[in-house]
Amino acid sequence: MKSLLIGVGQAGGKVATALAEFDERFGFGAVLDVVAVNTATADLRPLDCHTVLVGSHRVSGNGVGADNELGAEVMRADAGEVLDALDGRLTSRAEAVFVVAGLGGGTGSGGAPVLARELSRVYDVPVYGLGVLPGSDEGALYRVNAGRSLKTFAREADALLLVDNDAWRTSGESVADGFESVNDAVARRVGLLLAAGEATDGVGESVVDASEVVNTLREGGLAAVGYASAPASEDAADNETVVPSVTREALLTGGSLPEVRAADAALLVVAGRPERIPRRGAERARRWLSDELDCMRVRGGDFPLDSDRLAALVLLGGVERSERVDAFLERARAATSEAVDAGDAREDPVSSFEVDELDGLL
Ligand code: GDP
Repeated sequence: MKSLLIGVGQAGGKVATALAEFDERFGFGAVLDVVAVNTATADLRPLDCHTVLVGSHRVSGNGVGADNELGAEVMRADAGEVLDALDGRLTSRAEAVFVVAGLGGGTGSGGAPVLARELSRVYDVPVYGLGVLPGSDEGALYRVNAGRSLKTFAREADALLLVDNDAWRTSGESVADGFESVNDAVARRVGLLLAAGEATDGVGESVVDASEVVNTLREGGLAAVGYASAPASEDAADNETVVPSVTREALLTGGSLPEVRAADAALLVVAGRPERIPRRGAERARRWLSDELDCMRVRGGDFPLDSDRLAALVLLGGVERSERVDAFLERARAATSEAVDAGDAREDPVSSFEVDELDGLL
């Protein structure tokens, strides 16, 4: 799926460029271009892509801290500059735009939903969000910001693919090393997802294409992606149990959003050498997913990849029912309701949740 990536904020810029590097390293050609947007000059400097500084009239290139309302405000004022930067970059070849951001901070948390709205207004291609949830060791403010941002972002984007910073960090890892591991894991999973449909080698009737990704995300709302791989035998018949087993692992332990056990739609992509992919095993894995997720719409397809391993990539669409997401929303609601009690809220955020709005972001 040919995509343009727009990274907003520090995490957004790093994750978007990691994805582009993965795509380039494997020569998939699914990432058309990357644009990074930030309020902080220092965060843009190390990035190897086109950059846009927003909000300099307000914060002089020094960032907005973790104030996502200010992040939303400056994006509202300067979205035109981002759209100008897309001229010649967002061409008719693009099948999707991904707005990538960490949801716990300020620039990405507030700016990404605003930008998604502007892009949807101007362009016909689907606008997807790729949002990073803060890990459990980050402060309460980050979790509150994330709760407010994710609900707005999910509403403004055609679908919001969530990645949990707790998902793939190994114990004992520093926060910075943890980010690197998460960025690598996201780059591989989302990179393969975008690459699925770009495949030209060994094309067969069961090869997945970009429309299946689009259709799985068509339900809107929240989405998640899982991945696992295992060594494969040369003979497909010997891999009958490998595909169901990596599919289970992709869903149960390899997911970008832990605890997701239900979805409105799913896509199972089996990646590997075509002659090693067992048809019956892939069919069985699809049926298992359908039962496990209580989901009638499980699409499937192969992704021919020159590797000694077989991998399962599982895309889930419509996963609002995750307990992890509910916890973020609940915390955001509780924190803002405490602020109302203390008399320092800017407006009544609790009632804004009740009407399905989030205070001040949009
Ligand atoms: P912003 O620049 O104001 O948008 O804020 P940041 O992007 O620095 O931080 C927002 C959230 O992203 C926080 O919850 C951080 O934990 C997380 N974060 C920051 N950098 C990275 C990164 O490189 N990778 C990942 N996965 N998360 C990050």
